Amino acid sequence: MLFVSTRGKTDLVCSAHAITRGLADDGGLFVPQKFPELSLGEIVSMRSMTYKERAVAILSLFLTDYTKEELFECADAAYSQTKFGAEPVPLRKVNESTDVLELWHGPTSAFKDMALQILPHLLTKAIAKTGESNKVVILVATSGDTGKAALEGFANVKDTEIIVFYPEDGVSAIQKRQMLTQAGDNVRVIGIQGNFDDAQRGVKELFGDTALEEELQRKGYVFSSANSINWGRLVPQIVYYFSAYSDAVANGRIKAGEKINFAVPTGNFGDILAGYYAKLMGLPVAKFICASNSNNVLSDFINTGIYDRRREFYKTVSPSMDILVSSNLERLLYSITEDDAAKVSEWMQQLAANGTYNVGEKVNNRILEEFFGAWVDELETKETIGRVFNDNEYLMDPHTAVAWRACEKYRLVSSDDTYCIVLSTASPYKFSDVVLEAAGSEEDAKLEPFDGLRKLHALSGLPIPEPMLAMEKMPILHQEVIESADMKKAVETALKL
Ligand SMILES: *Cc1c(COP(=O)(O)O)cnc(C)c1O
Repeated sequence: MLFVSTRGKTDLVCSAHAITRGLADDGGLFVPQKFPELSLGEIVSMRSMTYKERAVAILSLFLTDYTKEELFECADAAYSQTKFGAEPVPLRKVNESTDVLELWHGPTSAFKDMALQILPHLLTKAIAKTGESNKVVILVATSGDTGKAALEGFANVKDTEIIVFYPEDGVSAIQKRQMLTQAGDNVRVIGIQGNFDDAQRGVKELFGDTALEEELQRKGYVFSSANSINWGRLVPQIVYYFSAYSDAVANGRIKAGEKINFAVPTGNFGDILAGYYAKLMGLPVAKFICASNSNNVLSDFINTGIYDRRREFYKTVSPSMDILVSSNLERLLYSITEDDAAKVSEWMQQLAANGTYNVGEKVNNRILEEFFGAWVDELETKETIGRVFNDNEYLMDPHTAVAWRACEKYRLVSSDDTYCIVLSTASPYKFSDVVLEAAGSEEDAKLEPFDGLRKLHALSGLPIPEPMLAMEKMPILHQEVIESADMKKAVETALKL
């Protein structure tokens, strides 16, 4: 299988190339030239497979320049019992028509592990295949979860360096602690005075800086990305949509072939896009419910066809979705317009120049056939956590609560009670202060982070993730905080250019 750029100005490349480079040379994102298809029989037969086998079944359709043995090695290392426990991606019944897919049983307690535990393995194999002799430098901009998951995935991986930029005041106490305690010879963690979009823009500029690229080349380095613009991040996410569907059939929640809905808490549009790709491959899905928090640029876009980032940026209780520029939307537009790279390039240029673009009524109607957009404010998010905990004895994190509430809104306006799987993207422990405020008391929410974890355990009985407890005794290893304008300088210093 070959990959094209959404901006249409680069040659076709193989998957190993798409994964090592991250971003296409024309500034676009790599997408498969054509999507493979699975029959209903093939989908349902996944119920007898382990998660690793399901992963290999899907990955092998896209990563055709890897052997099945290689892919099995990657999946085996990524989704091991030590890292993900006995049940890597459990589907839990919460009420009659709703299940929750828990994507956070990996080492950093967020769904990013689903992709970032396997990406380093895919990447090191890709480096060997493409004959890349330079050391790969992974640059990451994070709204909190990607940073830690990428650090955990890449720490001490041979021939790689990883530099993570996070917004100093834009991540939770636990998220920050997770990153600042990260050990590894090849890791750097740097705070920036700004928000996630500033960090992401800075990283994009570094990728596009040709003078810097030449300097890197001379010193034997090449940049790559672990953000969800990298195809190697997206493809492992397609797997769990198939996995969830086959489990829902196996659990008797649905009949084979029945169309279902998915509700997804959305930021950079990577998670939900993987679901849309699964649908293109034959997964029976009616609607994707795209859930935003108060940074509701995506739900507005779905409802109007106008993308407009010129709005106030809010720091919310679901910080991993505090994003105004959703990179992966570009891939959706490419697909929905049936590969119209010229149109996509034009819209992306308008976004860069004016902060807005309008896809028009026809494209908007196509999007509305596939997606329902809704946004959920801070009060509703906390109310949902408390209510579902009281009514259904199910405790969820604020991001999951945003998706849960968006699903309720969909059912209210559509009167459609189709079975829905809500994607749960983080452990409630990762945002214990907000969860305690919602399900416990205001007092609980003021506890020191580690006392908060213990309080939440007393309240819910859920086991505290081991790595999170261990952090209490680990030293802070990274102190650097810079202005977002100084990111280039920081990279040059880190790599001794
Ligand atoms: C990253 C993240 C999201 C958003 O996912 P996207 O792929 O960026 O849309 C939602 N919830 C949590 C907890 C996350 O870490």
